[in-house]
Amino acid sequence: MVKLNSETRFKGLPLSSGVAFAKVCLFNERRHQNPPVQTIRTKEVLQEKERVQKALGIVRERLDVLIESVKSKVGPAEAEIFTAQKMILQDSALQRRIFEHIDSKNFNAEKAIISSLDFFESKIMQMDNAYLKERASDIGEVKRRLLDVLTNLNPSFQCANESYCLRGKNRIVIAEELTPSLTMELNTDYIRGFVTDRGGVASHAAILARGLKIPAVSGIPNIHDLMFCGTDVLINGDTGEVILWPTEETLAQYPELKLPPPESLKAVEPIASLKVMANLSLAKTVKEAVHHKAEGIGLYRTEFEFFAAGKLLTEEEQYERYVSVLKAMHGKPVYFRMLDIGGDKNAPFLKLPKEQNPYLGFRGSRFLLGHRDLFKIQARALARASVHGRIHVMYPMVIDVDQFLKLKKAFLEDTTGIASGEIKHGIMFEVPSACLDAAELFKLIDFGSIGTNDLIQYLFAVDRDNESVAYDHHPNRKIFWSLMHHVAHAARKHRKPLSVCGELAGIPEYAHKLVREGIRAVSVAPKVIPLLRVAIKNKPKLSRRKTQHLLLKKLKK
Ligand code: PEP
Ligand code: MG
Repeated sequence: MVKLNSETRFKGLPLSSGVAFAKVCLFNERRHQNPPVQTIRTKEVLQEKERVQKALGIVRERLDVLIESVKSKVGPAEAEIFTAQKMILQDSALQRRIFEHIDSKNFNAEKAIISSLDFFESKIMQMDNAYLKERASDIGEVKRRLLDVLTNLNPSFQCANESYCLRGKNRIVIAEELTPSLTMELNTDYIRGFVTDRGGVASHAAILARGLKIPAVSGIPNIHDLMFCGTDVLINGDTGEVILWPTEETLAQYPELKLPPPESLKAVEPIASLKVMANLSLAKTVKEAVHHKAEGIGLYRTEFEFFAAGKLLTEEEQYERYVSVLKAMHGKPVYFRMLDIGGDKNAPFLKLPKEQNPYLGFRGSRFLLGHRDLFKIQARALARASVHGRIHVMYPMVIDVDQFLKLKKAFLEDTTGIASGEIKHGIMFEVPSACLDAAELFKLIDFGSIGTNDLIQYLFAVDRDNESVAYDHHPNRKIFWSLMHHVAHAARKHRKPLSVCGELAGIPEYAHKLVREGIRAVSVAPKVIPLLRVAIKNKPKLSRRKTQHLLLKKLKK
C-alpha cells in the first residue's frame, strides 16, 4: 500500500457540485468480516466472560449517550431505535445464552456473541411479521457494536479511538461507497465533502449529498489506500478532480474556496417562465426549500424518512412529518411520493429476500402493492395529513394504467372512513412503458412528474449507480427528447400538471430544453433553485460557471 505525500491529481466522477479543501477522515467499512472466533481452554473461561461483561457495559454506555444525543438533535422517535437496541443488549435470555456458550462450549467471547445473536436473529426472521423483522436488524446492530468493543475497532472512522479524530467534523470523508444509510448516519452538518471508490451520479447517496450541499466525487479506486487520516485534499465536485496535498499555487486557482457557504446564498424570486419546486428527503430540512422560495415540493422522497430513522415509521410518526411539511409550505403543492423501495434503495431494516436483479424486481409500485401492510400505514398517514393542506400522492415506477388503477383503489380502500381533505393521485414517469402510454395515463391521473434518473437508466439499460458506465447515463440523445416531448404533449392535451423532478432539471442547459418542450415546472435540490432561476431568466445558453458568476455578482450587490 503506497501512501502519497506530495501533490497528486486524480480524476473521478463528479457527484455533487462545489469545491472543498480540508483534511480527510477515512471511513472504515470493512469491519468484522473475519472476526477472531475460536475455542478456548477451560482456564480462559472466566477471562472471556469478563470480556463479555465489560463489552456489555461499554455498549450500554455508548447507547445511553447516543439516545440522549439523538433525542435532542433529531427527535424522540428516532431515539427509539437505540432504546430498542439497548433492550436487546439487556435481554436476560440473550446474556444467558452467551455465557452458556462460553461455559459449556468453550467459545471465546466473539464466537459466543456471534452465535447467540445470530441464533436470535434467525428465530425472528422465521416469523412472518414485519415489526419483528425490524427488531432482527437491531440484533445485527447490537452484535456489530459488541464486536466493535471486543475487537477494539472504531465504530466508523478509522482513527475514532484516537484523541485527534474529528469524526468527519470539518473533514472530507473518504469511503468505499456512500450508501444512503451511511450518509444519514454521519453528522452531515459538519462534513465538507465526500470521496468514494464507487457510486454513480444518479445514485441516491449522490442525490442526498447534493441535497445536503456537500461536494462529492466518486470513481477513484482504492482511494482509501492512498492516504492517511489527516491528508490534505481538495475536491472539485463540478469536474471530478481530487487533488491530494495541493500546493499553494494550486489552491490559489480555486477562488471558490473563499466564497460564503451555499446556505448563506440569498434566495432569488420566482420567475414567470418556469415554476421551480424543491425536492425533499427529510421533513426537518424543509426550511431550506422555504428559504429559497420553492413554489412547492415537487418530489418528497418519503422513503428517506425511513432510512434516516433506520426503521419502519408508525402512522403517527409519518403523520407528524407530513403535516410539518404541509404547514411549512403554506398551501403550495406538496408531491408526496409513496415509499420507493428496491434497487439501490435497500431498506436493511425490512430484511427483504435477496433478488437476482433488484432493479427489475420488487421495487417502486410493485413493492407497494406487494406490501399492503406498509402501504396502508402510509396511505392513512397521508390521508389524515391532507386535512392540513392539499395532498398530491405520487406513485413511483408505475408501469401502466392497470397498475395505477390498482394503486389508487388500494389507497381509497385503505383510507375509507378517515376524515381527510383534498387528495390528488398522480405518477412518476420514469419507466419507458409509462411514458409511451402517457396519452392513456393522463386520462386517469391528476398529475405527472418525469423522473429522468430512472427513465435514462431503463431507457438505455444503463445502471445509474455504476460510475464505470456513467458515460452512457446522459440525456443527449434524440430518442430521449422525443419521449419527453410525447409525455409533455399528452399532459397538455389533457390539461394536467406535469413537472420534471430528475437531476437533469437542475442543469440550466437541460432546463432550457425542457422549457422549449413546453414543460413549465421542475423540482430540484433547494440549493439549485437560485442558480436555475438566474439561468432561465438570462441568456438561454449560459454555462454553469457563468451562471454561478452572475449569481455571485448579484448577491454581492
Ligand atoms: C428519478 O428517478 O428521476 C427520480 C426523481 O426518483 P429517484 O431519483 O428518487 O429514483
Ligand atoms: Mg426514480
